[in-house]
Amino acid sequence: AVEQVKRNFEILHDDFNITYDYNPDIVLRSLILRNHLEQILIILFDNAVKYSNGLSEINITLEQIGNRAVIKVKDHGVGIDPSELDKVFNRFYRVDKARTREVGGNGLGLAIAKQLVVSYKGTISADSVVGEGTTVSVSLPIMEEEVIQTARKKPLKKNKL
Ligand code: ATP
Repeated sequence: AVEQVKRNFEILHDDFNITYDYNPDIVLRSLILRNHLEQILIILFDNAVKYSNGLSEINITLEQIGNRAVIKVKDHGVGIDPSELDKVFNRFYRVDKARTREVGGNGLGLAIAKQLVVSYKGTISADSVVGEGTTVSVSLPIMEEEVIQTARKKPLKKNKL
């Protein structure tokens, strides 16, 4: 899903340089609807572009930390003041209304991303330095191999209509 969203974004924003750093030999499986993961990534990519301040470099990393898959979207844009970092996940919260009005938005993107991530028992957080850039990290539980095997063995339940 990360690959797919990245590709679509590259087509839309061909002036942006998106780098992607992960080990292709490691497959991380999280129990999350593909559409939901894509939605989360679109929100993060969208913000990285909107608040890029003309610095069109975005780095995406995917790694395993303990029993979690961690995706980080890093931009080199305007950054977020430390006092605002937690609030950006609140509904309708926008940093510096006057400045952000120019780029448009309702302050809902990150609140939606957070709600989705939390519903999958994941976490989302932001690290930022004003004037240097922002990294938003999403961490999702990895499915244990036994769970995958058991799920495969179970016959599919017929939908009751
Ligand atoms: P939308 O509802 O269209 O997503 P939005 O971008 O304002 O609008 P959020 O995605 O929730 O809403 O972001 C909230 C606020 O956090 C933004 O208004 C912006 O000030 C700040 N922000 C979010 N991502 C970044 C980023 N990558 N760099 C700098 N500021 C950011």
